[in-house]
Amino acid sequence: MRTSRREILLLFFVTLYCCLTVTCTSQTVNKVKEKADTPISDSSLNNIKALILAKDLKRKGIRDERVLAAIAAVPREQFVNESMAEFAYLDKPLPIEEGQTISQPYTVAFQTELLQLKPGEKVLEIGTGSGYQAAVLCEMGAEVYSIERYRELYLTAKERLNRLGYTPQLFHGDGYEGLPEQAPFDKILITAAPEEIPEKLKEQLRVGGWMVLPLGGRMGQKMTVIKRTSGEKYRQTTHGDFIFVPMQKGTEN
Ligand code: SAH
Repeated sequence: MRTSRREILLLFFVTLYCCLTVTCTSQTVNKVKEKADTPISDSSLNNIKALILAKDLKRKGIRDERVLAAIAAVPREQFVNESMAEFAYLDKPLPIEEGQTISQPYTVAFQTELLQLKPGEKVLEIGTGSGYQAAVLCEMGAEVYSIERYRELYLTAKERLNRLGYTPQLFHGDGYEGLPEQAPFDKILITAAPEEIPEKLKEQLRVGGWMVLPLGGRMGQKMTVIKRTSGEKYRQTTHGDFIFVPMQKGTEN
């Protein structure tokens, strides 16, 4: 008699447990369904992808939180051809017009980190390309100047950056000449590879300022920082191997 009462009690609790589990599970499923039914806009999806990209770069060694925040804020899919948009948040370089490339996000972050930009600093970029790097510099509060040797790239980048609300000063010209009228610059960033250090650009650095450039030929380059320590003196350091498109002389229409 005692055993059977215990069995009834056990049966009661097992039934109660099952009922509760079924109710809770169906409520959770309904909640997930409700969430899945709410459409996520393309732009918020891209915001999430940019955030994931920034986290990936942090994992790969980028430490400057301001650089990571800028990467998370710039909509990279806007800087590539529509057919490439699905790859925009991969950590990969992608082709743009005129046989050029938009640099790999890790490289953009690495070069920007070496600049150690403070808000309001005047920075000259050589090689506007898609305009992505210029947008990252704008996000960091710098006063941005950028030169591109291909007229088409210059025009496209200008239209694109302005549409997105970025207002760097863009120029169609030969980066080897720099911008003597706007010099001196706190920082100079070269995003194409010269085989030798462009002398005119060194002279456009303010004393205490520095230039970040991938230095070397087509087989590969060393990321190099050249700091102007006085009117005549410069100090050079290197920071690993990279591959960039070459920095070419003259302009193209
Ligand atoms: N910063 C760019 C990367 C572009 S790739 C971006 O974020 O997309 C390098 C760019 O440098 C190319 O667009 C190329 O046309 C440009 N370039 C090469 N030599 C140059 C020169 N002498 N002056 C200005 N731009 C140059």
